[in-house]
Amino acid sequence: MKIIVLGTSAAFSGKNDGCSSYFLSENGKNYLIDTGPGCVSYLQNYISYRDINGIFISHLHADHVSDIYTLRYAIYTAQRDGYMKPSLPIYMPKSPKKTFKFIKDAIKKEFAITEISESLNLKLDGMTVSFKKTDHPLDTYAMRFECPAIKTGKGSLNKTVVYTADTGYFDGLVSFSRNADILIADATLQSPDMELENLGHMTAEQAGQLAKEADANKLILTHIWPEYDKNTSMGEAKKSFKKSVEIAKRGLEITL
Ligand SMILES: [Zn+2]
Ligand SMILES: [Zn+2]
Repeated sequence: MKIIVLGTSAAFSGKNDGCSSYFLSENGKNYLIDTGPGCVSYLQNYISYRDINGIFISHLHADHVSDIYTLRYAIYTAQRDGYMKPSLPIYMPKSPKKTFKFIKDAIKKEFAITEISESLNLKLDGMTVSFKKTDHPLDTYAMRFECPAIKTGKGSLNKTVVYTADTGYFDGLVSFSRNADILIADATLQSPDMELENLGHMTAEQAGQLAKEADANKLILTHIWPEYDKNTSMGEAKKSFKKSVEIAKRGLEITL
């Protein structure tokens, strides 16, 4: 399993960065997790858009979905010219209804839409994908990508990636993230922001706490507010999580 970060910024594109998007490749299949602004451009450093096998959208905020509007033109021509099969699978929430209808009308029949819910459990070429509703102002789903453990000389090799999407901290997220090999966690905020009303995001300190409670192996802090000092976020996360912590940045590549 390979993950490549395509964009990380919270809410709007930071300097030389887009918004949330991750490229996941497993067993020869290529998936996009969120399609924030700039991701289609950056993806082409690695693969052609024609080689995308499926897309996961955590929620319908623009910083997670906006590139789908233009990607559809690329998909349309590739399907028309026989480079891609019809109806690329896309997994997404169908709410808020108005936003969903707007997207559905825009992307038309190039995509086959499956609604995300907590009861959806996908099996894609040996990889299992499950979903957890998060604490965010609109329907948002964290995602857990799991591959069967492979036995090695050093024991069994876990291949589990959890992406929290946008969320405040809540207990259910700990069990959902349990033993993740890689935990890609919302760290939009920093500790002084705790005085603000609940924004539906975590501080970097809470992301560290989540990684500790879930006993994750590696924490990737993402969705950091573009104007925040990332070293401060790193310091906050390391207060409680003593294993490996990295700041998500474009081009960060992890192979499991
Ligand atoms: Zn966001
Ligand atoms: Zn959001």
